[in-house]
Amino acid sequence: MTKVRTRFAPSPTGYLHIGGLRTALYAYLFAKKNGGDFILRIEDTDRERLVEGACDVIYNTLKDTGLSYDEGPDAGGDFGPYIQSERKEIYQQHAQMLIESGAAYRCFCTKERLAEVRAEKEAKGEQFTYDKHCLHLSEEEIKAKLDAGEPFVVRQNIPAQGETTYSDAVFGDITVPNADLDDNVLLKSDGMPTYNLANVVDDHLMGITHVIRGVEYLSSTPKYNLLYEAFGWNLPEYIHLPPVMKDKSQKLSKRHGDASYQDFIDKGYIKEAIINYIALLGWNGKDNREIFSLEELIEAFDLSGLSKSPAIFDVEKLTWMNAQYIRGFSKEEFIRRAMPYFEQAGVADKNLDLITEVMQPRLERMTEIPEKLAFIGEMPDYDLALYESKKMKTDSGMALGVLEPCLELLESLNDYTKNGLHDSVMALCETLGMKTGQVLGPLRVAITGTAVTPGGAFEAAELLGKDETLRRLKASIEKLKKA
Ligand code: GLU
Repeated sequence: MTKVRTRFAPSPTGYLHIGGLRTALYAYLFAKKNGGDFILRIEDTDRERLVEGACDVIYNTLKDTGLSYDEGPDAGGDFGPYIQSERKEIYQQHAQMLIESGAAYRCFCTKERLAEVRAEKEAKGEQFTYDKHCLHLSEEEIKAKLDAGEPFVVRQNIPAQGETTYSDAVFGDITVPNADLDDNVLLKSDGMPTYNLANVVDDHLMGITHVIRGVEYLSSTPKYNLLYEAFGWNLPEYIHLPPVMKDKSQKLSKRHGDASYQDFIDKGYIKEAIINYIALLGWNGKDNREIFSLEELIEAFDLSGLSKSPAIFDVEKLTWMNAQYIRGFSKEEFIRRAMPYFEQAGVADKNLDLITEVMQPRLERMTEIPEKLAFIGEMPDYDLALYESKKMKTDSGMALGVLEPCLELLESLNDYTKNGLHDSVMALCETLGMKTGQVLGPLRVAITGTAVTPGGAFEAAELLGKDETLRRLKASIEKLKKA
């Protein structure tokens, strides 16, 4: 049996779209599931759209997410170069072969003539397709134009009659009347190929057995198949994937600022959670299972689980999944991943075991860390209204009555840990004849300046340390006295 070979063929746009990453993931999973190779090819023939550093974004994202490719521009391989702009001669030779067999022809039409043809067709309410004008040039006419240095493109010569059919693994049989297909450009006047030519030549020469790509290519595939036929090559298997949508009617687009892998990393999502979530955008494992590592995805993936329907990107679901991943980390792993955020929050030198204990079960996204820990670095200038709680029947007057004995207690406390704090403050509640919430609520406000912190007043007090807690407590007592 031939070895399975799949490829991911992104255009270097400067960001990796979530839909593109999903295509890469499925191509990777399918190859690995079948003991095959996964290849990266950079499709950069559109020289006007080049973005500096864009290839690095692709290499880094694939490496970061574990989708390591067996062959590619920076990985080497026997079928290179893997960057299309470095394969110019290969496409030119193949275009020449097509011209010789009559499957393609040179077109010298000027922009002006094409605009006229377009206007005529549109006036008749017809869709523009090229009128094969240059197909009928004589050998002499062609030679004269070439000698005169007239620029030309190479167009595919689509048969005017008949139809072309193929079978897609997801969408089934696709049949297109040849009359609906246009004699598209295969080679541009700058000698660069279009996608139409390059995808066919490269997929064949790189030995790709399964072409996995977006559904936008589904209906043009008959055109590509006519090229395979003209070259006398076998067709690959086709697996077209439905789009990833923002909602029922809009595609997930870069404009929404939430379409690229990096956008999600920047928002504090975990790379494994992103991969896990996008695996389910258009593919279903058996038994509605949802949490999969990359290894488990390789094991579980099969084409029969792919869906035809557009997949809606549900950020809430991703966020839920992200929280599952965060909770699943060992303490050490959590600290390792959270370190950049701890540094940002200025707490990297604090008791990270305790911070982890309070943070890990409460986070949905890693970027929440600095904001949730902001109280450690700085005491906000809070409003006394924070001492008021209808439920606890507390107000600022009462808070003062609680905080003064608290201060006395904490000043003399030796076991300044959350457990030590717990035992002594609980005893104080009893002495004062107060409910725990009536003491802990005001205490938390007094030392953090906020009513909500991850963990309770004891954790906050331990994280702040004895000196800082006492300093803040005294300041809060003064503030209450002045009020
Ligand atoms: N360069 C094309 C794109 O980014 C690749 C399509 C394909 O996978 O063949 O859409």
